[in-house]
Amino acid sequence: MRAQLPPSVRLVAVSKFHPAEAVQEAYEAGQRLFGESHAQELVPKARMLPSDIEWHFIGHLQTNKVKQIIPYVACIQSVDSGRLLCEIDKQAARAGRVVDVLLQFHIAREETKSGFTREECLELLASPAFRQMTSVRVTGVMGMATATDDMEQVRREFHTLKALFEELRQTVFAGRAEFCEISMGMSHDWPVAVEEGATLIRVGTAIFGQRDYGK
Ligand SMILES: *Cc1c(COP(=O)(O)O)cnc(C)c1O
Repeated sequence: MRAQLPPSVRLVAVSKFHPAEAVQEAYEAGQRLFGESHAQELVPKARMLPSDIEWHFIGHLQTNKVKQIIPYVACIQSVDSGRLLCEIDKQAARAGRVVDVLLQFHIAREETKSGFTREECLELLASPAFRQMTSVRVTGVMGMATATDDMEQVRREFHTLKALFEELRQTVFAGRAEFCEISMGMSHDWPVAVEEGATLIRVGTAIFGQRDYGK
């Protein structure tokens, strides 16, 4: 699958609900970037698996779980509130490191999906609290499209995320080369995401097969 991607796009292999052995197998095939969405799954896997794996946290993150994952994550893609970003900053500072984060936007029709609205995000980025943060580095945006077979709907949503990225890149993050990532696209819609400008795609099922939630 990596072979099919343009060089500007990196594949995040989403290993949630799959055992460490499955990650190891993908690792041996050359994959180094993996995504997990639960702290209680990420931490044991990260401890057990090779240390040159780059772990991205992609799920809804409760503030009380931030501390546990900080030692292991290269990037937290799913920052959806100022409160969460503050806690990441605090825990990263305590651990003496800087953590990369993506701002998650709500682009789907489903109300259940999390993420900032444009206005909420602009408000956070203009706040004194944000300007005082020392230990988070905002490297881009993330979004999840509506779960639908209507690929034109999905395309419009990815387009919206790309436009938000461009707006931020030219304003709040002007001159900041590290603000360069657009994380969008999953197993069923990643080709559309790539066409719409994704730099990170998050693919689980198409790599590892169906997840067994019963385990
Ligand atoms: C599970 C998950 C994915 C991967 O989904 P697949 O359909 O299995 O490719 C991508 N992004 C997020 C945020 C996820 O939670």
